Amino acid sequence: MRWSRRTPSSSLADRPPPAFSGIGAAVAEKLGRLGLRREADLVYHLPLRYEDETRLTPIRDALPGVSAQFEVEVIACDVAYRPRRQLIAKVRDDSGLLVLRFLNFYPSQQKALATGARLRVFGEVRGGFFGAEIIHPRFHAAGDDEPLPEGLTPVYPTTAGLGQATLRKLIDRALDRAEAEGAIGDTLPESLRCRLGLPELAASIRTLHHPPPDISLEQLETRGHPAWRRVAFDELLAQQLSLRRAHALRRACGAPLLAAPGKLTESLLAQLPFRLTAAQQRVWKEIAADLAAPHPMQRLLQGDVGSGKTVIAALAMLRAVDSGYQAALMAPTEILAEQHYRKLTQWLTPLGVEVAWLSGSQKKRERATWQEKVGAGATALVVGTHALIEDGVAFARLGLTIVDEQHRFGVRQRLALKNKGATDTVVHQLTMSATPIPRTLAMSYYADLDVSVIDELPPGRTPVLTKLVSDARRDEVVARVRDACGQGRQAYWVCPLIEESEALQLKTAQETFEHLTAELPELRIGLVHGRLKPDEKAAVMAAFVANEVQVLVATTVIEVGVDVPNATLMVIEHAERFGLAQLHQLRGRVGRGSFDSACILLYARPLGETARARLRIIFENSDGFEISRQDLHLRGPGEFIGARQSGLPMLRYADLEDTALIEQARSAAEELLRGDEAVVQRHLERWLGGRGELLNA
Ligand code: ADP
Ligand code: MG
Repeated sequence: MRWSRRTPSSSLADRPPPAFSGIGAAVAEKLGRLGLRREADLVYHLPLRYEDETRLTPIRDALPGVSAQFEVEVIACDVAYRPRRQLIAKVRDDSGLLVLRFLNFYPSQQKALATGARLRVFGEVRGGFFGAEIIHPRFHAAGDDEPLPEGLTPVYPTTAGLGQATLRKLIDRALDRAEAEGAIGDTLPESLRCRLGLPELAASIRTLHHPPPDISLEQLETRGHPAWRRVAFDELLAQQLSLRRAHALRRACGAPLLAAPGKLTESLLAQLPFRLTAAQQRVWKEIAADLAAPHPMQRLLQGDVGSGKTVIAALAMLRAVDSGYQAALMAPTEILAEQHYRKLTQWLTPLGVEVAWLSGSQKKRERATWQEKVGAGATALVVGTHALIEDGVAFARLGLTIVDEQHRFGVRQRLALKNKGATDTVVHQLTMSATPIPRTLAMSYYADLDVSVIDELPPGRTPVLTKLVSDARRDEVVARVRDACGQGRQAYWVCPLIEESEALQLKTAQETFEHLTAELPELRIGLVHGRLKPDEKAAVMAAFVANEVQVLVATTVIEVGVDVPNATLMVIEHAERFGLAQLHQLRGRVGRGSFDSACILLYARPLGETARARLRIIFENSDGFEISRQDLHLRGPGEFIGARQSGLPMLRYADLEDTALIEQARSAAEELLRGDEAVVQRHLERWLGGRGELLNA
């Protein structure tokens, strides 16, 4: 594995071309789409599920909705043109008749279905217009007295144009060769394997490709079989080895010492209108210890929305200043960055610490002025958006970078910020996330980071009452907004997310604004959306903060960062279209003061199953970690990891809910990394191949 500090990990484009022997370019290209780049990869391309072709079922005995295998003779085969072009074959066995229907078909299939042909057909029978039928069955010509397979038939993940039969043949050939060459040798030291009670790898792989006749189909399908467990363990181990090694390598680098006794941090703490919560004190201690170490911090700070991460960021930045260094804070959106900027200037101006502001929308002259001050080291702290990582920005003595909402930034962007430091050391890096990452996910995909968690909200927050309301009762919700504002409070009204069209989303927001203005003539209503110019946006937000605007109609731009304690009502239209994390973030905008607060989730019927499940989760839970855990269960890890891990293969076989196995893989990785480098290397090569180069961002 090549590991380089200053270059982003290789992209798809600079990978070597696929290396297969005896496979045509067209097939190799399709294998490439499955992530299979060399013959050895085929061996580890494991079945998605299995089909039982060990038995034949008489047509008469077929149960609707259950897949079964039939041996039949074709009695007629024709192309029909109504209601659309399709191929219809009538087949029979001794017990009955069956129709096979193909909506797409190749001439070769038509030929194979000639009258009189004997076939083995596999599929799910259902009652159709023509009687019992199977749509798009799998079938092949049945040889005379062709024996039935003795074991279950594997079904592999595949891609368009690559049939199961072809893929199976390629995999079997690769497997046979690998076995003959002894290439599936165990990468785990025998003692470790026995201690963990895991079966041998070669036997496990063979079992999964070719399950023996007596195996439990259920254990195979639910992946509870020891053979699956072994594969899952190996995959997790590869992930742990690569991420923990990246962690260790960075730890071996030098970093600026940010260990000054902390005049400024003390002043800030003394001057804050509140005391840090116990959780905040704990994470600040963890971070301060990292900063004082001679190697770079690589820490993820997690905390639910409103848990108070900003003040921790401020303390860390001041520690850098106390030690004679600069610090930069980057946020993914203008509004979020601005919110940080405002908070920091409010806290730090009294301490005599200037904060520079860099954003894409500011005037060139203003930006140039700040850049100059930062470059000269005259200003120690910088807050901004992507504008921070542009070429023109240079730091005199960068010691610490903080990235908020890290999952929204790509690897390259985070690297770019990090690389603004001096070349002989690596700057300290803190990333912050308001989307709590479930523990198992943090332990696996984030294993290259140390994690701190603020698991406590500041005192004095009022719990937010969540209500699910059908949009047929919108009038009542409008009345509720009137009431709240009549009592001096304020409300957010979030317009539906329309992913397909930004123009449509804008139109809906404008219409909602007009409707509410007509319905609530006594109130001042503001509108904020992504198309407003930054100063227009700032003006609306400022008016809302000052309670000159009482109802803020918004697209999701208020998703992060807005802090208006007087706002007590959050209305979200078409809540069923939002993700759980988004809903949780939005809900976190209210309940920030001492007044009773509510979040009303308007939904439109009919609700799909997933939408219903999501709304139930948000209704029943107020803890962001619990919501994330259930979200992970519902949708898998893709959404959480976002841009972070592009380039790192997703876990294919391991189950992120199997905490015990993840923990075993983690401690095994630590053990192996302390021991034999060759073992580590061999395991990584086996599982990650050319993809083992890891992100160092
Ligand atoms: P988040 O973690 O979502 O970024 P913020 O840092 O924006 O949260 O904090 C939310 C609000 O809580 C801010 O107004 C902040 O000043 C306030 N706050 C932070 N820590 C405390 C505390 N220990 N006690 C009271 N209020 C706090
Ligand atoms: Mg925040």
